[in-house]
Amino acid sequence: SLGVRDVHLAFGANRVLRGVDLTVARGATACVIGPSGSGKSTLLRTINRLIEPDRGDVLLDGRSVLADDPDALRQRVGMVFQQFNLFPHMSVLRNVTLALRRIKKLPEDEAVAIARAQLELVGLAGKADARPGHLSGGQQQRVAIARALALQPQVMLFDEATSALDPELVKGVLGVMADLASGGMTMVVVTHEMGFARQVADTVAFMDRGVVLEAGEPAAIFETPEHPRLRRFLSQVL
Ligand code: ATP
Ligand code: MG
Repeated sequence: SLGVRDVHLAFGANRVLRGVDLTVARGATACVIGPSGSGKSTLLRTINRLIEPDRGDVLLDGRSVLADDPDALRQRVGMVFQQFNLFPHMSVLRNVTLALRRIKKLPEDEAVAIARAQLELVGLAGKADARPGHLSGGQQQRVAIARALALQPQVMLFDEATSALDPELVKGVLGVMADLASGGMTMVVVTHEMGFARQVADTVAFMDRGVVLEAGEPAAIFETPEHPRLRRFLSQVL
């Protein structure tokens, strides 16, 4: 399980996280929704320690991640961004094997076998030798997902993974994410895709001004939202 406990973080005078609490059971998917600037990306970045919180804790299976070596942690917590950040001069296969060879120190043949299996899972077995620039945005994002999965993380974090994609490419990426969720991955998904949140999430958390203002099952959040700010947000996005 993943637990975020009273996490606070300020950038100078800007108090971006003001006591965030979130619990994601092992194998569950939490979708985080909320207005721009509410702290969603910052929350994900504190979970895998791209940023250190000022106060509070992040627990992975009951143990604080803050005690962990950040590099070791990032093998256990995979992250996928809006921008795919693939290396343009390397083949798709090289992009996926890179961390396996450099971080996990796996021999070439093992790294390649894992990478090919992950590319197959995201439907890109045939693109292993292509350069990222020759793939569609949706295909590139699926490579980024395969690259994160290759490290066999316990938790996957997605930060608006489909926001930069053309509309017709969104579905394929959301499909891969839904498959991962139903396959038992523990996930935190920041998304504007309310249909995905409704169908795939076990928990939906609404963030506003640095706190989780309301969290619950999708049906409760979307059909009987309690907080006026959540009601206003939903009326704008649905
Ligand atoms: P969006 O939906 O637009 O992606 P968000 O909910 O992800 O928004 P964050 O990116 O977490 O919001 O940003 C929250 C606040 O923190 C914003 O006011 C932003 O300007 C500020 N912020 C984020 N990262 C930094 C940083 N590295 N340095 C200073 N301020 C930052
Ligand atoms: Mg963001």
